[in-house]
Amino acid sequence: MPELETTVGPRFDWRPNPKPLPAAEREAGLGSAAFGTVFSDHMAAIDWSHDKGWTNRRIEPHGPLNLSPAAAVLHYAQEIFEGLKAYRWEDGSIRTFRPWANAERFARSARRMALPQLQLADFVGSLEALVQADSAWVPTGLGSSLYMRPFMFASEAFVGIRPARSVSYLVIASPVGSYFSGGLASVSIWIDTEHSRAAAGGTGAAKCGGNYAASLLGQVKAQENGCEQVLFLDAATFSQLEELGGMNVMVVTVDGTVLTPPANGTILEGITRASVMQLVRDRSMPVIEQPIELRWLLEALASGQVSEVFACGTAAAITPVGRLAGKGFDVTVADGAPGPLTMSLLDELTGIQYGRLPDKHGWTTRLI
Ligand SMILES: *Cc1c(COP(=O)(O)O)cnc(C)c1O
Repeated sequence: MPELETTVGPRFDWRPNPKPLPAAEREAGLGSAAFGTVFSDHMAAIDWSHDKGWTNRRIEPHGPLNLSPAAAVLHYAQEIFEGLKAYRWEDGSIRTFRPWANAERFARSARRMALPQLQLADFVGSLEALVQADSAWVPTGLGSSLYMRPFMFASEAFVGIRPARSVSYLVIASPVGSYFSGGLASVSIWIDTEHSRAAAGGTGAAKCGGNYAASLLGQVKAQENGCEQVLFLDAATFSQLEELGGMNVMVVTVDGTVLTPPANGTILEGITRASVMQLVRDRSMPVIEQPIELRWLLEALASGQVSEVFACGTAAAITPVGRLAGKGFDVTVADGAPGPLTMSLLDELTGIQYGRLPDKHGWTTRLI
């Protein structure tokens, strides 16, 4: 079995796909596909068992899994995931953004869901190996990238209740086109005052599928009310902003202060959130992590004290919010158009990710 070199961690066995997608079809998929619908030729995989630990590091053809219908994940949702992107730079290299932070968060999520912790070097090594195998799948072009989805789940065939004794770790990859296509549009947000996604002591800070399952009905309600995304409030009082289904939220006041809800265990601590906070501080502007009362926000929008609201996460980087609606209110944020700080932070963050701006904080990591 040939091996794939990785600069970190143990090597991965290389089982090439005997039927990779023909180049013409791959190129068609690179440009036009809707997010998360087209997948590269390979996937990375590592097995874990209670007795043997982590074994069988490999790159193999992307394809259906052989899974028992009794696999614990299908019954009890013992599962976690990550999301990060590979960017093609003009110098020909392929880089990713803060993968060690994702690796650490993956280990924290694993601990919360009673899953085994993957070595950080195996996490980053699996990304390197997969991108080596599927480098042709990393698109060129402004704003496009290869989205990488590491995940881990309880694969043991056992419907009793305890942490699984066999677990699978996989990474699949999907090319994503430019989020600039069609220009940067503000999104409308429905504030859900009925359902919450996470409570104190729960799993809100873990990146697990169950949190998303809990957020889907809120997302459906948002769409029924003519909004694109849902924003959840704290489960205890339904009065403070928490986050969107899959993005963190930030509020900008007219005097240039950026406010964001604190990471107190019920929100997911986004790596984009942390990076944006650093970029704001680099501009000598204050960033304050503090509870944001919905009632205060609505008054501050009405009085003009809040001038911008945006959401942030790996998938879309930074998304301006133009409208906030919920039971009994419907307001535009300033004039509804993307605000200047939002746009300038988006430029700076993506500039670093694509190598167009200097990487002062050492956030980018070379995969090839
Ligand atoms: C992944 C995720 C985010 C964003 O995290 P990034 O590390 O910035 O991609 C925010 N909220 C939730 C619920 C998430 O799952």
